[in-house]
Amino acid sequence: MKNLTQQLVEREAAGLYRRRRIVEGPQQPPMVVDGRAVLNFCSNDYLGLANHPKLITALQQGAERYGAGSGAAHLVSGHSRAHHQLEEELAAFTGRPRALLFSTGYMANLGVISALLGPGDAAFEDRLNHASLLDGALLSRARLSRYAHADASALSAQLAASKAQHKMVISDGVFSMDGEIAPLPPLAEAARQHDAWLMIDDAHGFGVLGERGAGTLEHFGVGEEQVPVLMATLGKALGSFGAFVAGSESLIETLINHARPYIYTTAMPAAQAEVSRAALRLLHEEAWRREQLRSSIHYFRNGAAQLGLPMQDSPTAIQPLMVGSASEALRLSEALYQDGLWISAIRPPTVPEGSARLRITLSAAHDQEQIAQLLEALDKHLNRRQSAP
Ligand SMILES: *Cc1c(COP(=O)(O)O)cnc(C)c1O
Repeated sequence: MKNLTQQLVEREAAGLYRRRRIVEGPQQPPMVVDGRAVLNFCSNDYLGLANHPKLITALQQGAERYGAGSGAAHLVSGHSRAHHQLEEELAAFTGRPRALLFSTGYMANLGVISALLGPGDAAFEDRLNHASLLDGALLSRARLSRYAHADASALSAQLAASKAQHKMVISDGVFSMDGEIAPLPPLAEAARQHDAWLMIDDAHGFGVLGERGAGTLEHFGVGEEQVPVLMATLGKALGSFGAFVAGSESLIETLINHARPYIYTTAMPAAQAEVSRAALRLLHEEAWRREQLRSSIHYFRNGAAQLGLPMQDSPTAIQPLMVGSASEALRLSEALYQDGLWISAIRPPTVPEGSARLRITLSAAHDQEQIAQLLEALDKHLNRRQSAP
């Protein structure tokens, strides 16, 4: 037997130990966490919808109509009118024939990749893809090749060298730990040239990017022909929970019939689907939230540049501050927390060795004063360390 305690001690010594903090109350910028008042700069609630009164009402009314639990999987008795309406609305919003709800984004990625690929096939994934996309390829037992980050010509070379029967290129739309936007047009061109499918996981673009908030595809003006498999989540910018895949009739029917993480799990509560429906309406009714987020990103990046902070070149709500060592990232995160700023330290294996970072996330719910407070604290802990008492 492995010595679990010994393993944990070693993990702690390497600065890699993970701990949860306990939150009181809803997601919003000012929070009480482990008994301390802090400003939250690490949530994925990019539009500030998770605590929106209309979403709370949708949950309450959904529970009154459908009850608390869904009772069974979608293929048994759990597929409610609310789930079905949400799927139709997601299909219409993404401009695709069909959409299919999954209980979580993690499960959607496992389900899609393992339903579409098998032994003898090949998955081509960006080096910085989210863990769930890598796990999906492992579950499928297809051959997994990882290409250099955002490098369509490296991808092309790997596709050209592959003799696999079916090939699928898979990428984050917005990279979850870096905030960069994937170069969809050249990725789509490489996939087309080599007769491969392209799948985009738009967990961090959906709701935020594009004129209507339809995400990274809308940002680039690419559609279903270039990206036949679109996956996105409902628990980040939409402030709800769950995920979906959108695409052709035959794609969705294949998933319903073959995606094990779809088939063998209880449907999310119908009331939660009502929350997502309300959030989709808010993308349209409160389009100002995307504008507000953009101006917060602009304000933060200007301030960070003036302070000479080592920011990555990210145009999105995800603003990583590169640190390097895991222990140093953890120490900085802890020091900022003591000053009332909650920013998580992202360490390996979530990011490559030597690239631990503070992952700062901005939201439409932050005001300028809160961002100014963040900048001041970053200046204190990163630039004025020596002179601090
Ligand atoms: C968060 C995330 C997921 C998982 O979605 P959940 O609904 O939280 O399970 C998948 N892919 C990416 C890129 C993510 O950031």
